[in-house]
Amino acid sequence: MQKKLMASFAFVLLLLILLLVRIATITATRGNKYAKQVLSQQSYDSRSIPARRGEIQDSNGIVLARSDRFYNVILDCYVINTDEDFREPTIEAAEQLLGLDSAMVRDRIMDEKTKDSRYQIILRDVTAETKRAFEDYCSGKDLDPETMGTDAYREEKRKRNNVKGIWFEEKYIRSYPYGSLASKVVGFSNAIDVGVTGVENYYDDILNGTDGREFGYLNEDSEFQRTTVEPEHGETLRLTLDMNMQEIVQEKIDQFDETYGDELHDGKGARNVGVVVMDPNSGAVLAMATNREYDLNNPNDLSTYYSGAEVKAMDDEEYVDALNTMWENFCVSEGYEPGSVFKPITVASALQVGAVNDGDAFYCSGNLFITDTSINCDNIYGHGDETLEYAIVNSCNVALMTIGMRMGITNFINYQSAFGFGQRTGIDLPNENAGVVYSRQTMHEVELATCTFGQGFTINMIQEAAAFSTVVNGGYYYQPHVVGQVLKADGTNVNTVEPLVLRQPISSSVSKLVRGYLKTAVQEGTGRKSQVPGYLTGGKTGTAEKIDLTTGRRAKGKYLVSFIGAAPINDPKVVIYVVVDEPNVAEQADSTYAQTLFRRIATDLFPYMGLYPTEPVTDDLLIFLGISRDDTVENHVKSAYFQCFDSNGILHNDAYINQDGLVFDSENKEISGCTLDRSTGIVTDGYGNQIEVDISNLLKDSAQVAENPNIASPPVRVEGDGEDVTTWEGVTVEEEEKEERE
Ligand SMILES: [Zn+2]
Repeated sequence: MQKKLMASFAFVLLLLILLLVRIATITATRGNKYAKQVLSQQSYDSRSIPARRGEIQDSNGIVLARSDRFYNVILDCYVINTDEDFREPTIEAAEQLLGLDSAMVRDRIMDEKTKDSRYQIILRDVTAETKRAFEDYCSGKDLDPETMGTDAYREEKRKRNNVKGIWFEEKYIRSYPYGSLASKVVGFSNAIDVGVTGVENYYDDILNGTDGREFGYLNEDSEFQRTTVEPEHGETLRLTLDMNMQEIVQEKIDQFDETYGDELHDGKGARNVGVVVMDPNSGAVLAMATNREYDLNNPNDLSTYYSGAEVKAMDDEEYVDALNTMWENFCVSEGYEPGSVFKPITVASALQVGAVNDGDAFYCSGNLFITDTSINCDNIYGHGDETLEYAIVNSCNVALMTIGMRMGITNFINYQSAFGFGQRTGIDLPNENAGVVYSRQTMHEVELATCTFGQGFTINMIQEAAAFSTVVNGGYYYQPHVVGQVLKADGTNVNTVEPLVLRQPISSSVSKLVRGYLKTAVQEGTGRKSQVPGYLTGGKTGTAEKIDLTTGRRAKGKYLVSFIGAAPINDPKVVIYVVVDEPNVAEQADSTYAQTLFRRIATDLFPYMGLYPTEPVTDDLLIFLGISRDDTVENHVKSAYFQCFDSNGILHNDAYINQDGLVFDSENKEISGCTLDRSTGIVTDGYGNQIEVDISNLLKDSAQVAENPNIASPPVRVEGDGEDVTTWEGVTVEEEEKEERE
């Protein structure tokens, strides 16, 4: 009996799941069709007043998603047919003011099937202007009896009064003014205001308000009454993303695609490119982009990836799969082996538990035997003697494996968890891939060894960005997030997301040490190609050979290369993580692709953020990077252009203030006779005119050496033992979303 019950329960459950999947598919792809059916069932006497879905804005309040009011024109044939005199004036008005075909309107009114219908949509998506013009016409307020003559006036007035049975049904249409900008983060919602992807999906409930209603009823005296319940409009989300930074990142990714798109096979510069820009002192995501953004205004348009014939040949399931693939956010939903960008996390953990100390010496002969397995260093000839710092600088696997053995499996697993791996970060975006890590039961010496240098487990990009931020920011693990504020429809603040410290896995002194190692890695080590002339950055490269999912073996020749860096490294204000998954080149195993993209993004991003060059730019460095002085930040830091006179009385329209506070023209020549007051931002020109210039992001910040960060009350921890570190108890999390999709 029990068994039978269980079996039928399981069967019902299965049916329910199938139904849910089907509904999700329908709302994602065919929402429009079903919306029509629902609307057509509403009666005229009781109608819904739609709530406006909230906006999505960038951190500066620029609107990335909005809902505008439009109307459907509804024909009430029943009303029109109550009096023959209504018909022709109504048809005429529909033709003249709404541009409708009079034969079609007449047909609807007269046809046996529709003549009693009270709800026929005859026109969609008309503007408030059209509605007003129609209503003005019906009221006849433009008619003047004096110019027309009284008889003509009466006749016309009577005709217009007989326009009946046409009304306007309010609706909202979602649009995305910036098209594909931040498409993976913003996401889109369908015709019935169901968020399908991105923030639109994650915050669906907050964005959607509550519809109002207008309905008629009979009161105590049996009189017909109307009442209206006003809709409650949805709340507005203000993202942590900055549209300008997002544009810089997407532009550089596009350039990467252009550079390598045709290298090996036609198309993209890599199977995937992902970039996450994070504020390491809050966990706020400032920009997030892939090389597969799509137009949010046409989210079902697959033409970028498939030909028309290919789309036609797809069945329902293939079609939904193709859309899901295009909509997927690589930065959040893809699990992959991180490779060497994980090494700073291993080293920071080992320093924290006291398994190693700054200055410890290691020896690399090119390989190391772990039990009876020989595991190679990248440099198979060996790095020889090296300090802990140079284990990072050289990206030496042998040193890292040695460090892992000193730490032990338990410490390693505890810290991997404390840094947020093997669990979702909880970022406010859908379909986060938790990644798969070893548990205490499944990790043995060999697994420990490979995990120390970022192999044998999978992560998502947000996990790495958040963990690396922790390593460089003084040791604080912040909750990553993309929404910074929730605003009411009237613009008042409902909720501001304060930076949330979840734990402190390492001390600020360990953080400081590792920052130093990362700085050397960029100046002298594997990360040299990432150098941003003028800046002190720190970071780590990654070159991971991929696994062929069908065989479970290493996919020869297929690599995921990456770079993660922070600037300024002595007091990080920004972390940029670049992943290039299978660059479209013959020799993929080169992190230079990621490093160069990092440098190009940083060169535009840093001055925008108000980070100022602090270091001299040498010709040697420019030659090493293969760039000219024009490609450096020196030429990217300037104020907006303004007008001023020079000391000879010549007017310059192209004056700007450079990073040294001097007034230059667009040919980069100093304009004589102009001085800037740095405290007020006022330029006095050659004629003595005073011009106010916004210099807030230009002038050097003298307080850059401050230790970081200043958090009021960090979580209490005991130095050294690692025991009180918040540890995630479950160990292996399956890639649920992935399986669901497959
Ligand atoms: Zn080595």
